[in-house]
Amino acid sequence: MFAGFVLGSVINLFLSEVAVVQEYFVNGLFHAIGALFINLLKMLVVPLVTFSLISGVCAIGDIHKLGRIGFKAFLLFILTTALAITLAIGVALVFEPGKDFNLETQPPAEVEIVVPHSLLETLIDIVPHNPVEAFATGNMLQIIFFSVLFATGLVMLGERGRLMVEIFDKLNEVMMQVVRLVMQTAPYGIFALMAKTFASHGPGLILPMFSYFGVVIMVLMIHALGMLMLLLKLLGRVNPWVFLRKIRAAQIFAFGTASSNATIPVTLDVVERRIGVENSIASFVIPFGATINMDGTAIMQGVATIFIANVYGIEMSMAIYLTIVLMTVVASIGTAGVPGVGLIMLAMVFNQVGLPIEGIALIMGVDRLLDMLRTSVNVTGDAVVATIIARSENGLSLPTFYDSNSETADT
Ligand code: ASP
Repeated sequence: MFAGFVLGSVINLFLSEVAVVQEYFVNGLFHAIGALFINLLKMLVVPLVTFSLISGVCAIGDIHKLGRIGFKAFLLFILTTALAITLAIGVALVFEPGKDFNLETQPPAEVEIVVPHSLLETLIDIVPHNPVEAFATGNMLQIIFFSVLFATGLVMLGERGRLMVEIFDKLNEVMMQVVRLVMQTAPYGIFALMAKTFASHGPGLILPMFSYFGVVIMVLMIHALGMLMLLLKLLGRVNPWVFLRKIRAAQIFAFGTASSNATIPVTLDVVERRIGVENSIASFVIPFGATINMDGTAIMQGVATIFIANVYGIEMSMAIYLTIVLMTVVASIGTAGVPGVGLIMLAMVFNQVGLPIEGIALIMGVDRLLDMLRTSVNVTGDAVVATIIARSENGLSLPTFYDSNSETADT
């Protein structure tokens, strides 16, 4: 899989100028294989999350424990996102990206931005008026809500519900098996996605935006390798290096697909099978995190806000920075982990603090590459929180965590 990733990334350095390669390979074959691969992953998400969650909640069997896990997950998600955005603002204030940016030579393109729902609407929306619609449209928070409620009902049936619980356990096992089957195609899928992306988002786009691009990448690295690993060490009391080696497969998938949602099957597999988090915890925390926890996205938003303020020469006060922290945390709750959603959330933040929305058009050109990177950080954050919670609930198998055989399988 790693070979596919590297080959796909470098192939364009040599071949992107050849028209025939562009037409038949980049826009033909690679595009088709990449799209097929993403479809395969997305196809798994709804049934996998549903069966895994129902069987997980039944395994917990205790509504209080479930509530406790949910509460811890929510707090940790908010905490990590708030840390991420604060770090981003701090570093961006030091490096001041955009201070010498020339708006004359790089005018923003035309852009149409949709402003997302408010927090209140998002909260109301968690309860589906029709679960079938929730499943059909893949609305993750609604699916989680319905599945947890359904499983709670099943637990309350006690002995009478046993057969049904066993059926859901088996369905979950089947889906995990299908995930492994799909993972066999990963090297080709990742190769095609990389080749396609680097062909259409080459270095030419990055250079004029380097100050913004560089600061976002720097903060993403500090957060993923420093802040999150420190939390893992302090709260999870496990070795961060082992964790980083094991989480690699999910990070590569997140990078290739730029979607935490599409990566859920792989994150679940990695977190359960290699890191050793028990299914009852992972099945709840991972899909929940894919929807509400976006550390990498928050980082991009913090840096982007300061970049645009610098470009347009707008002064920002402490109150505005606080508003940005708050808005970013809130915005990440209601938006699904799909490609490019970070830009839509950014529109919401800009709206709130009065920055020019058309400024977003400036950073759009380089957003795809940053999206891939920040999605890897988002997924890492989800896995860190799942591991910390599992450790605190006695649900982390240390022999699996430290077993080096489960480290490199499929990578
Ligand atoms: N693509 C990101 C994710 O799926 C969200 C974003 O930052 O646009 O997590």
